[in-house]
Amino acid sequence: MKKLSIKTFSLILLLTVLSMEIIVFYNFYTSTKTTIHNLIKENLQTDILNLSHYLNKTFHPGSINSVASHIDNILVINNAIRDIHILDDKDKLIYHPTTRYGNQHAFDTNCLPIAKIMQSDILNNQCFEFQLKFYNNLDPYHYKVKIYLDSEYIHNILIEEAKKIFLLFLIVSLVSVAFLIFIEKIYIIIPLEQLRRYAYYSEYPPKNFFISELESIRYSLQITFERLKREQENLYTLSTKDPLSGLYNRLSLKEKVEWLISKAQRDGDQFALIFLDLDNFKNINDSRGHTFGDKVLLHVSKVLLNAVRENDIVARLGGDEFVIVLPKFENEAQITEVAQRIKEELSKTYNINDINESITASMGITIFPKDGKEFTTLLKNADIAMYKSKDLGKNNYHFFTQGLDKIVQDKITMHRLMEKALQNNHFELFYQPKVDIQTNKIVSCEALIRLHDPVKGIIAPDKFIPLAEESDFIIKLGDWIIKEACKQLREWSQTQLADVKISINVSSRQLNADIVQTLIENLRNIDDKKLDLEITESVFLDDFKTKLKVIKQLKRFGITFSLDDFGTGYSSLSYLKNIPFSTLKIDKAFIDELKSKQGKSFVNMIIGIANDLEMDVVAEGVETQEQLSYLKAAKCEMYQGYLCSKPLPPKEFEELFASDKC
Ligand code: C2E
Ligand code: MG
Ligand code: MG
Repeated sequence: MKKLSIKTFSLILLLTVLSMEIIVFYNFYTSTKTTIHNLIKENLQTDILNLSHYLNKTFHPGSINSVASHIDNILVINNAIRDIHILDDKDKLIYHPTTRYGNQHAFDTNCLPIAKIMQSDILNNQCFEFQLKFYNNLDPYHYKVKIYLDSEYIHNILIEEAKKIFLLFLIVSLVSVAFLIFIEKIYIIIPLEQLRRYAYYSEYPPKNFFISELESIRYSLQITFERLKREQENLYTLSTKDPLSGLYNRLSLKEKVEWLISKAQRDGDQFALIFLDLDNFKNINDSRGHTFGDKVLLHVSKVLLNAVRENDIVARLGGDEFVIVLPKFENEAQITEVAQRIKEELSKTYNINDINESITASMGITIFPKDGKEFTTLLKNADIAMYKSKDLGKNNYHFFTQGLDKIVQDKITMHRLMEKALQNNHFELFYQPKVDIQTNKIVSCEALIRLHDPVKGIIAPDKFIPLAEESDFIIKLGDWIIKEACKQLREWSQTQLADVKISINVSSRQLNADIVQTLIENLRNIDDKKLDLEITESVFLDDFKTKLKVIKQLKRFGITFSLDDFGTGYSSLSYLKNIPFSTLKIDKAFIDELKSKQGKSFVNMIIGIANDLEMDVVAEGVETQEQLSYLKAAKCEMYQGYLCSKPLPPKEFEELFASDKC
């Protein structure tokens, strides 16, 4: 359906009303015309009949002057009569009031008899006549009176009347149309336009309207816009603020820094960005719970806000990472001052849930444009500098320098790679057989982790395990390894590999109370005796007591322990005496030396010590038949090495086991 604007619709409506008005006025005009017509007619009839009556009574051809003034009077009084003629029986004009018309007078031979005046149309019949009978000595003389009407005068009266009516009609129409347009504009068109603008811009609601329907639309719009605005504000807060601390989130930090960059570029300014990471926050979270951890983060947020100026920007990137941006500084000393203040304020004791503690943080600082011209570069370099602070013993700050870049960047890249790999299941456990030297049977295996990077391919553990061990990531990764190895044990328990033991390498950080729980959970429905944990001597460098306690606890569950890489570390016979190891693994370096006499005597010695302490011995890195023969003669129980096989994926390991090749 074609859409009409209110203006067009109103115009059509007005035209309809006008047409109706025209009909009404036309009817009014015709009835007025008839009324006037009748009035004139009645007047004429009366005057003509009176004249006929008067002349019949008083007319005498000899004294025509006696009737002349009467006839003149009639002409003066009744403007509709143009002339009155009196004619004798020979149709000779004997009188007419020449005074008003000069010698000009009308003649009409076809006058209607006066008797028909009642039925005739006086506009179309301009002349009426009647007979006058006069007796002289009983001889009748006939005279005629002709009355000429002034049809032009009558017409003019009607036209005048029509003009008045038309004028009235015009005035009434114009006034009513103007009034209607005015009312419509004030109460409908303007409010509608205001509503349209309001609906479009959603700003400045119009004042209340007089028309109730429009008012209810206005009210509904206002309510809807107010609700939308509230929701928009909520959404904005959600999208720009960190819900826990109320600080800016990464997205709004990016926006703000990008704005600062364009401003600084324009004005030739510089600004500083401090990347802050809390030290050992994970420990707080793990030991006191997440709710407590959240309170600590909130406390840190407050400390940061208090430590900076009003114009400085404080954001939380997530976890325990914060960023402080100093849009203005005079010299580097000022940045140092802020970092120092943050450090001091954070180290003050806080009280949460009646627990008094303090926290430290490591910070990295970058300066625009020196250390990066883009947000991501500035952040990345500040992150690198922060890592350097961690490396240097935490609770400190460090300015970014280009020299820092490479090593730390590689570490960060690898760290991210590991995090991603764990999320995307890109880690895999390979298994390397441990072979019984006497029977040549695979009796056990060592689980060795591999990282499948979609771009770089398989990455060996020495590329990432040392890095993972620097942070608590090794605990997460260790948990995954335990889960995966236990899953493998469960799978093999139904096959011919049911008796094959799995050794898992465990790092120092992993050996805490939590590993006990993790192992118990994962070893459900599995024979505990099938799991062996390989640890190196370096594990005991710190917190010897706790670690020994954990080992003893696990030992009670049937889990065995191997001392890995024996002979390379801080070898101390006291470990062997105090820690209940079941197996001792001779490091590959000694096996490589078997060619020499000295090498042989070292290996013999290690085997001798192990036998004395009733420990099994595994020789690592056996690559040749000679090495194996020597080990067999030296009564070494087991060997592990490329001579039998490299570490293999589970399927290939199963095939090797079945083939009995070693
Ligand atoms: P490791 O525990 O001493 O493991 C033995 C390493 O020697 C393995 O290297 C293995 O592939 C290699 N190897 C075995 N036989 C031979 C041989 O005949 N010749 C040579 N050249 N090498 C041989 P890989 O798998 O690269 O692991 C290196 C180290 O990474 C391991 O030393 C261990 O300390 C660590 N690692 C590996 N997997 C894990 C894991 O799952 N958890 C932890 N915490 N550390 C792991
Ligand atoms: Mg090992
Ligand atoms: Mg080893």
